[in-house]
Amino acid sequence: MPDITGAVAAKRSKAARYASEQDRFRLHSIRATMQSEHDERHIGFEDGSWSCTCTFFADHKTCSHVMALALILKEQAGLQLRDELE
Ligand SMILES: [Zn+2]
Repeated sequence: MPDITGAVAAKRSKAARYASEQDRFRLHSIRATMQSEHDERHIGFEDGSWSCTCTFFADHKTCSHVMALALILKEQAGLQLRDELE
């Protein structure tokens, strides 16, 4: 019988190293909901493009909701999706 405990421990160790090498990761797809001051918003990121169900996004292709999620991903997870913060 294989040593599952040892195998999982080895994977945890490798995961810790990968987690410190965030350049290895590219995020391709996100789906999220958030409660704005006005309504529940549905935010997405797919194939390099953001989407949001708010009317501001429909007119400007960006909004406070996708900007906020991009900030969370960058500041809390170290992940950046293109240059939406500009
Ligand atoms: Zn929005």
